Amino acid sequence: MAVRIGVPRETDAREQRVAVVPDGVRALVRGGATVVVERGAGARAYYADALYEKAGATLADGAAAVYDGADVVAKVQRPAPPEIAHLRRGTLLISLMAPASNPETVRALLDAGVTALALELVPRITRAQSMDVLSSQSTVAGYKAVLIAADALPRLLPMMTTAAGSLAPAKTFVLGAGVAGLQAIATARRLGAIVSAFDVRAAAREQVASLGASFVAAESVNPDGETAGGYAREQSHEQQQRIAAAIGGHIADMDIVISTAQIPGRPAPRLISAEMVYTMRPGSVIVDLAAEAGGNCELTRPGETVEVGGVRVIGPLNVPSMLPYHASQMFSKNVVTLLQHLIKDNALAVDMTDEITKAMAVTNGASA
Ligand code: NAD
Repeated sequence: MAVRIGVPRETDAREQRVAVVPDGVRALVRGGATVVVERGAGARAYYADALYEKAGATLADGAAAVYDGADVVAKVQRPAPPEIAHLRRGTLLISLMAPASNPETVRALLDAGVTALALELVPRITRAQSMDVLSSQSTVAGYKAVLIAADALPRLLPMMTTAAGSLAPAKTFVLGAGVAGLQAIATARRLGAIVSAFDVRAAAREQVASLGASFVAAESVNPDGETAGGYAREQSHEQQQRIAAAIGGHIADMDIVISTAQIPGRPAPRLISAEMVYTMRPGSVIVDLAAEAGGNCELTRPGETVEVGGVRVIGPLNVPSMLPYHASQMFSKNVVTLLQHLIKDNALAVDMTDEITKAMAVTNGASA
């Protein structure tokens, strides 16, 4: 029998993305699966029901009809309790889950006998690259962060020589040059800003240079700042102070600061102190992409904009959802590739010894 995949509408009012877009449905149906999509699931990302139908999906009225009989449920945000109540024992759930900060969700999924794969736990290996929602969504966030900053800035980004005088280019500093940071560098450069960046990982230096940005405080790069998985290590207190001294002076002269520094499973490192913000010129803008994890700036308030001495500190939440069309397209590609990895000969084959599945599994319904 065909594997039945359910795609519900996201229930979080702030979530505009959808886990599978019509092209994803087409690929899954071509592979022999049945895809049931809740009516309106893609509406906020501009994927109309008619497109899903055309791609071969069955439209369902209401969440219950999607969950009922589904072998797999694919969604964006971690399930809320009413959604968990819909899940049948033995269902495979694929979604973001932030399991480290939501143990109650993991407990409820375990009690419900659900096998849950958390999308943020995809291993950072070449084989899993096309399943990696952290990368795809960070790409969107890095791009959007620059637009948020440009929109809040009282000046233009590019240098201009006009009959009405010359305009100096905006100076942009990107803190943390991972996936989001590199995308922010590329976007700010395209808009004509002068861009500099910093990261604790030595490998980031070359990547920053290849995008035409300068690398700040190279002497503060930590030779063992990177884990085997390519992530940054948490820095010692001493190292943090050295970094603060190095970037502190640089920040004072910036029009835009985009901070993206994260340590997986830990609060975001505090890199921009209140004192550093006080040294910035009025009109400058900080966009703190780490706001969700507490923020890289001491003054960040997640989900809010704080103004101090004319400097705006913006802490946007769920930035990928602000560009739901392309964010969903990429998210869907990641989910469909993962599903294709999990479906063998028209049947679900969830192998807990597989390197990718094992890393992503937060509950195993088969052992419950
Ligand atoms: P992330 O979101 O965890 O962190 C963002 C950046 O902040 C990272 O570059 C990190 O080094 C940096 N950072 C952390 N603490 C810092 C500090 N105190 N000061 C300055 N910078 C700090 O990272 P990410 O964007 O998810 O990428 C992490 C790594 O994984 C990168 O090396 C990336 O190239 C790699 N990656 C590999 C794959 C793959 O092979 N499948 C996929 C995606 C990313």
